[in-house]
Amino acid sequence: MPGIFKTFRFRLFLSYLALSAAVLGAAFFLVFQRIESSELSNLKTKLADEAALVSAQLRSSDLASSGINSLAHSLGAKVSSRVTIIAEGGRVLADSELDAAAVKAMENHSDRPEVSGALEGKPSYDLRRSVTLGKVMLYAAYPVTSGGRIRAVARLAVPAAQLEAANAILKKALLAALALALLLSFFLSLAVSAGFSRPFDKIVYASKKFASGEFAYRIQKDFHGEMGKLAETLNSMSESIEDNLRRVELQSQQLAAAFANMAEGVLMTGPDAQVTALNPAMERIFSVKASDAVSRPLLEVIPNAGLNEMCARALSSGKPVSEEMQLSVPVKGIFGVNASPIFSGAAVSGCLMVVHDITEVRRMEAKRRDFVANVSHELKTPLTAIRGYVETLMEGALNDKEHAMEFLGVIHGQSKRLDNIVSDLLKLSSLESYVVEIRKENVELKELADSLIAGLASVFKSRKASVINLIPAGLCVKADPEKLGQVFINLLDNAVKFSPENASVEVSSAELPGSVKISVKDSGIGIPSEHLPRVFERFYRADKARSREMGGTGLGLSIVKHVVELHGGSIGVESSEGRGSTFWFTLPK
Ligand code: ADP
Repeated sequence: MPGIFKTFRFRLFLSYLALSAAVLGAAFFLVFQRIESSELSNLKTKLADEAALVSAQLRSSDLASSGINSLAHSLGAKVSSRVTIIAEGGRVLADSELDAAAVKAMENHSDRPEVSGALEGKPSYDLRRSVTLGKVMLYAAYPVTSGGRIRAVARLAVPAAQLEAANAILKKALLAALALALLLSFFLSLAVSAGFSRPFDKIVYASKKFASGEFAYRIQKDFHGEMGKLAETLNSMSESIEDNLRRVELQSQQLAAAFANMAEGVLMTGPDAQVTALNPAMERIFSVKASDAVSRPLLEVIPNAGLNEMCARALSSGKPVSEEMQLSVPVKGIFGVNASPIFSGAAVSGCLMVVHDITEVRRMEAKRRDFVANVSHELKTPLTAIRGYVETLMEGALNDKEHAMEFLGVIHGQSKRLDNIVSDLLKLSSLESYVVEIRKENVELKELADSLIAGLASVFKSRKASVINLIPAGLCVKADPEKLGQVFINLLDNAVKFSPENASVEVSSAELPGSVKISVKDSGIGIPSEHLPRVFERFYRADKARSREMGGTGLGLSIVKHVVELHGGSIGVESSEGRGSTFWFTLPK
């Protein structure tokens, strides 16, 4: 576990421990030294006092007598120290540890520091190894004066071993105290470092959580001071990051939803015209897949030079470009295209292309133009005829009674045609308006068809046509009876109109799941197959001459289609030229 040695907690613990060990060690050293030196000075004082006593004793003694050595022995026993008496010249007179012979053999002591000091009149000390005894000794020397003259020196010595033993005991006691103190400081350091590192550990743990994106995490703050403030700051920082993230996420969701659901195709490129994103509408328009398109050049994704050129212009000029384009590759259609540069700072970092499919809009506009042209044409024909006949009458034909009546008949017929066209146009426009009112009610189909057939009896009679109603009684649908009537009338009228005389027309019904299918079948001239897909268009006539001759406007079937679709049904035709046609429509039940 080498990791633990790098932790803040361990380092803190180690620092505390090292600091306390250093302080305790220094204290131990100082205390030991102090006690040691005070021990030494106590011993020195004791020895000096005793040396002074011995010196006083010797003042009255005869130093030259042969009994001096035994006096030294008895004094030495009294003060339990080694007593040495040295003459003023340095010669040893007596020694409590040696006999008289050995004393004589002793070398001159005048060079011993304590002796030379005492000979100068001051009590002196020394701590050194004794040449005579071979042990470390503490020496104290005191001058023996008589009549104001130094006559000898009384020197006392104790083995330093005594002092060392005391010091050893003291050292042991102090070391034991030091060990105890170190042990205490070990546990104290552990506790203190744990206490100090806990907030730190919590903050480190929290910062790891924040770094991994868990901004909802909060530091449980049960500490104060700087660490407490740091924890508070981190908590409020993560809260505001969380808020910002949530806001950014919401915005990006809204943008993504707009991007995905826009009707316009949107595509983005980088500065090098490589596709970075495109929306589903764009995928639909150009039949491409976003997953395949991303990171590929625009020209590869949509192989159209025009679009590519617009993107390049927006990227190079830094200005938006918009154009309407008629495309044939990769898809056919008319598109409004906007290419706008995307800026990051002052530099162009990409291009945003918005493609709007306006094929249908343009088709509707063309249809409307056609319609206006058709209406004008349809109106112009009868108007021209009326005007021509009126002018002829005015130029004198009015007096030609026979022809005048004929001309008036034509004028009447053409004005009726105009009236038909206008009323059909009004019907169509009311059906196409947004507020068409359909008042649905229960309609009994057979009843409705019967009443309409009866109403058209004169028409059928004039064409010698017969109509059979095969709709069973009791079959009902929900429909607007008046508008449904228009459907029947138009289909029946056409069936008779586009059949030779003596035609027979059949109205029948079939029940389908959820709807009723009504068919009007004739055995007339039929419709050539190339005209079939267009017969429901406005003003479209398969047989123009016959339609005009029969007073048709070319609007009947488009009115029928509108009404059926307004009811939620569908309409169709099956026909073969020369054999007859069957027009059918369905209505929900
Ligand atoms: P029109 O006023 O000319 O009847 P419609 O919209 O009702 O106009 O019909 C459009 C065209 O469809 C007609 O001109 C005719 O050519 C063709 N058509 C409609 N019904 C029949 C039918 N039963 N048999 C043959 N052709 C028909």
